[in-house]
Amino acid sequence: MEVLQEAKRPLTRDEILSLARKKIPRLGSSTLNLAIRKFSEAFDLVGVDFPGQPRRYELPSGREHPHFICRKCNRVYDLDCVMQLPPPRAPKGYVVTGGEVIYSGICGACNQ
Ligand SMILES: [Zn+2]
Repeated sequence: MEVLQEAKRPLTRDEILSLARKKIPRLGSSTLNLAIRKFSEAFDLVGVDFPGQPRRYELPSGREHPHFICRKCNRVYDLDCVMQLPPPRAPKGYVVTGGEVIYSGICGACNQ
């Protein structure tokens, strides 16, 4: 949880593991898996999936926000802006239960 708070962006399981091992060097992979499952079940952690990308995890956010994928390093960032999308016009009989706005480009670190 600390790693995710500090990163301020959605992290893959592997990213969490390598950052967490800087704090707990002997942290086991299966311990992390268990923690991810427990926190996810308690909704303290939210899994986010982007097409063609490994699942990422982020802390629950009070409001909807778009994400940004860097085309160079593949990192995903939260964009701090208000999302005001019109309601989707789904075909008759469809029930829309969620959506995701993804921007892509080059992140600040890669753009240097
Ligand atoms: Zn980048």
